[in-house]
Amino acid sequence: MTQVPVWATEAGAAPVTGPLPGSLRVDVAVIGAGYLGVTAALALAAGGARVAVLERGNLTDGASALNGGQVIPGLKRGPSGLNAQLGRERGEAVTRFVMRSAGRVFDLIREHRIDCGAVRSGWIQAAASAAAWAEQRARVAELSERGGDAVLLDARAVRDLLGSRPGAYCGGWLNRDAGTLHPLNYLYGLVRAAIAAGAQIHTLSRAVRIDRQAPAWRVRLAHGPLVSAEQVLVCTNAYSDELWPGLRQSILPATSLQIATAPLPPELRAQILPQGQAVSDSRRVMNYFRIGPQGRFMIGGRGPFRAARRADYDGLSGAMRRLYPQLRGIGVEYRWAGRVALTRDFLPHVHQPRPGLWCVLGCNGRGIALASSLGSAIGGQLLGRSEGHPFAPTPLRSLPLHRLHRFYAGALIQYFRLLDRLE
Ligand SMILES: Cc1cc2nc3c(=O)[nH]c(=O)nc-3n(C[C@H](O)[C@H](O)[C@H](O)COP(=O)(O)OP(=O)(O)OC[C@H]3O[C@@H](n4cnc5c(N)ncnc54)[C@H](O)[C@@H]3O)c2cc1C
Repeated sequence: MTQVPVWATEAGAAPVTGPLPGSLRVDVAVIGAGYLGVTAALALAAGGARVAVLERGNLTDGASALNGGQVIPGLKRGPSGLNAQLGRERGEAVTRFVMRSAGRVFDLIREHRIDCGAVRSGWIQAAASAAAWAEQRARVAELSERGGDAVLLDARAVRDLLGSRPGAYCGGWLNRDAGTLHPLNYLYGLVRAAIAAGAQIHTLSRAVRIDRQAPAWRVRLAHGPLVSAEQVLVCTNAYSDELWPGLRQSILPATSLQIATAPLPPELRAQILPQGQAVSDSRRVMNYFRIGPQGRFMIGGRGPFRAARRADYDGLSGAMRRLYPQLRGIGVEYRWAGRVALTRDFLPHVHQPRPGLWCVLGCNGRGIALASSLGSAIGGQLLGRSEGHPFAPTPLRSLPLHRLHRFYAGALIQYFRLLDRLE
């Protein structure tokens, strides 16, 4: 079993990028080359701004290169939950924005001819308990009232679409706006599109300090150069370090683990997810799965709040074989981990700690559609266009007891796992 992402298979050639060779003056400096930073840079460059993206490592390092490739237009909370949380007007605006978010990804892919195996095959949320299915029935009704795509599935329909063992799920629902893609090739395609629009993308260019030297902002890179910019956009997500005070402490950097099997033989391929949907289950500590490159079965789930060890992946293999007993003889060939930025309110956060300085992060495991949509909208906003997104800036706040998160978040996950089992 190799500790590399399955996306190493079928990855296209990486766009040519390298460290910023010398100091530079731009309109906007973007820090972090994940979906958020790169879609923002694409929108900015297409709008005529001079923009430089500064990435600490390589394009393969962030969550955008490591994720499960499920393009899901939704947040943890549905319309009524968002209305209760944000008030009706903003709640409805967030629902509208999120409902359109998968469509924006497929539009970007079409517009920039990105070769990333994108298929709009749909996403199923499978209900692991009767209570979860009752909630899903309400969610389907609410989304349908708002013109969203949502199809309720009974246990039989879920079993037919998943090909999983009988009784694994009580029901579920299907969203046909959703789909799957090869996340690294999608990122590479966005980077190429941003470069073609005029953006500079520099890897191995870690930002270590941001300060104000009126009239501009100044970003210092670890290897020496300075970038002066009118505006700075920090998109470092779960990989945030001490670059801006309080940013790292504003989110919980959760580990998500994934494994991928050997390519499935044709008879199993015909049984398991025959229509190619992406799937998440409804558990508090959920698993998500799909068919990946070369017909491999892939499954992911929450990992520990420390570096993942080999034994941590065994839980995923166990979950896979419980769900699909027919996979018992099939070996696991890839395993890898990445970081997801969780926020306390399960919403992405837009902060503007000073005029001209923006920090946008926290897509809570739904970042392919959401970070791409939000990045494009923020790019437009920095160009001075109407906001185009419903996430008003909020103050940067540290999570309580952030320094102890490894202990309390780990304990909370064990507790949630117990509740899931009891249900
Ligand atoms: C294992 C896993 C599975 C997932 N599965 C899915 C899925 O199936 N569907 C879905 O929608 N979402 C999924 N997600 C979430 C999704 O990948 C993220 O929400 C999304 O990629 C976030 O994009 P981003 O641009 O905000 O952050 P990232 O892609 O993490 O980019 C942040 C970048 O900032 C850089 N950086 C940090 N500090 C500095 C610095 N000081 N200077 C310069 N650069 C810096 C980092 O190196 C990194 O490249 C998954 C995430 C993981 C980890």
